[in-house]
Amino acid sequence: MDKHIISFEGATISQDKKVVLREVSFSLVEGDFVYLIGRTGTGKSSLLKTLYGDLKLREGKGKVVDCELLKLRERHIPDLRRQLGVVFQDFQLLPDRSVEKNLDFVLRATGWKSADKRKDRITEVLGAVGLEDKLKFFPHELSGGMRQRVSIAIALACGPRLLFADEPTTALDVTVQHQILNLLGVQQSEREMAMVLVTHDLGVVAGRTDEIIVMYAGKVVEQTTTHQIFHNTSHPYTEALLRSIPKTDQPSHTRLAAIAGRPPNLITMPSGCSFSPRCPYAQDRCFDEEPQLTTTHDGHATACWYQVGTPENQAAWDRNLAAGLPATLAVAEGHIVDEVSVDLGAGAS
Ligand code: SF4
Repeated sequence: MDKHIISFEGATISQDKKVVLREVSFSLVEGDFVYLIGRTGTGKSSLLKTLYGDLKLREGKGKVVDCELLKLRERHIPDLRRQLGVVFQDFQLLPDRSVEKNLDFVLRATGWKSADKRKDRITEVLGAVGLEDKLKFFPHELSGGMRQRVSIAIALACGPRLLFADEPTTALDVTVQHQILNLLGVQQSEREMAMVLVTHDLGVVAGRTDEIIVMYAGKVVEQTTTHQIFHNTSHPYTEALLRSIPKTDQPSHTRLAAIAGRPPNLITMPSGCSFSPRCPYAQDRCFDEEPQLTTTHDGHATACWYQVGTPENQAAWDRNLAAGLPATLAVAEGHIVDEVSVDLGAGAS
């Protein structure tokens, strides 16, 4: 059996004739764990829909579990989905059913006919998430962290080969966030699943040792290890995300830096680099030519003409600062003035 769980090569994906993901290239084998970083409008929901067979591949190659996306037909989709588990930020359990009945409902819906096997499976996955004693509890009797554990148990119940966790810790406090991330990591490793964990918060991945993919405007802009992201950042968008994380050595009232402007509308993308209207280093070339993802010898991939930390980047910064360009001044001041969209809200996702 092919060990590749996800394999995208130059994949361009569209929805309603609109391109929502562009030239996506990455692969995961069994047991791989990757963090996908991006805020609203960067394409992570589109990626999930693609994995689920809801969106069509327009160009390039794409394979999810054993399905070639170009050859995917309606009749293949139930089998594809049986091999995927999804954990959402705000997964809603059926409020009038116990934890056991919620799990039983999902197992029956996915073809588990034997009541004894369902019961064994429910006991096993609830034990895996540390909730074996909450079988008869109703959702309103559980804390937010426990409800998220139940949603993880539901995602694990059908034995997925790929687990996609979409902002699984956003509504939880920091201690519970770490418990949930650790739980997901342990389950992913013990079950040798591939896992994609989506978050907009780079603070969530600090101190972890996995692969990171940073997306912007439907495209991968940086891909490397967590260590490299924090110690050798090379894309200006990643650098801007890092500036927006609170630091433990900052006073509690410190204003965090946001990114100037708004993410592009994917229907009317700017020419050249999609980050150019917001980038403090943008030069003429950035507005004309779109940079492709290029990989250095150590596997660090970046799509940028003036990568952070290079002499070219420093020269670009100096030129823009001298010219008084707004994005550059905003970064130099460490915060942004009135027109900033902190939420980075608009755009397809
Ligand atoms: S320096 Fe240029 S290519 Fe790099 S992110 Fe900024 S605008 Fe894009």
